[in-house]
Amino acid sequence: MSTNIVVVGSLNMDLVVRVPRHPQLGETILGGEFRTFPGGKGANQAVAAARLGATVKMIGRTGPGGFGDSLLDTLVRDNVDTTHIRRDGKLRSGVALITVDAIGQNTIVVASGANGELTPEDVTAGEAAFAGAAVLLLQLECPLAAVERAIELAKKHGAQVVLNPAPAQMLNASLLESVDYLVPNQTELALLTGVDDLTATRRAASHLRAHGVQRVIVTLGEEGVLAVDDDGEFCLPAHQVTVVDTTAAGDAFVGALAVALMEGRSMREAVAWGNAAGALTVTRPGAQPSLPTRDELEEFLS
Ligand code: ADP
Repeated sequence: MSTNIVVVGSLNMDLVVRVPRHPQLGETILGGEFRTFPGGKGANQAVAAARLGATVKMIGRTGPGGFGDSLLDTLVRDNVDTTHIRRDGKLRSGVALITVDAIGQNTIVVASGANGELTPEDVTAGEAAFAGAAVLLLQLECPLAAVERAIELAKKHGAQVVLNPAPAQMLNASLLESVDYLVPNQTELALLTGVDDLTATRRAASHLRAHGVQRVIVTLGEEGVLAVDDDGEFCLPAHQVTVVDTTAAGDAFVGALAVALMEGRSMREAVAWGNAAGALTVTRPGAQPSLPTRDELEEFLS
């Protein structure tokens, strides 16, 4: 059985300030405590999957200096294989400027840095990571050409492709057709389909299926999740939890989904794992520090 997950994606240092509320355009407000956390959707999803027991290999790029060092160190501490993460000599590591308000809602601006220069050749150089891989996990914080190359290698090595299309951008039909599981949140779904009426989530998900996506799993924040495939659709309500910080909820969801799929579980079970991991994550501050372990997830699910 294949027991690996490959993540091709971003590593960012998250610079986080708590704010009483988000500022208006042109407004300055006084924030609270400032903290730095290792993040980036790729690294977060790699850690999410590794904490749940998967063997995870990551392909990406980070910069020289302190941020790059600590981004790699934290991945290694979480048992993510960083052999195929390239250190860029010139470009800075990616950073994300994050504000989190009193009710845990965030805004995020990403400066991609080295992530923005990940090339198809970098991905090809990491092809060894795909040997024995059950799942390829992708996001859109790195260039599309690298994402497309990763999908080619996943097909070649028989891995299922899970794409979290974040941050959202328009995707061509051939890319959509090659994705086994597309996992957008509602904002991303709206951008992908042009359907921004949130009551029309089902219609938008069906629209994507009509464009060749085999399975669409829409995360709905505090509303839970909607999943659609050939057998129809189902929804799971969100778990009732006390929200501290919603950063990385989607990453926790996708990482847990990937591990469940790697273990051969059904889509319904994989979605339930994602829903539980997302809920646990919003109860704690930060991105990677908030991601649950296998024991925590199993206890929560039971
Ligand atoms: P993203 O972080 O990508 O915007 P969502 O906000 O949709 O993604 O959250 C991903 C998943 O995390 C949800 O589908 C749900 O399972 C869980 N989640 C998010 N917010 C909450 C919440 N307030 N309460 C419980 N679970 C939540």
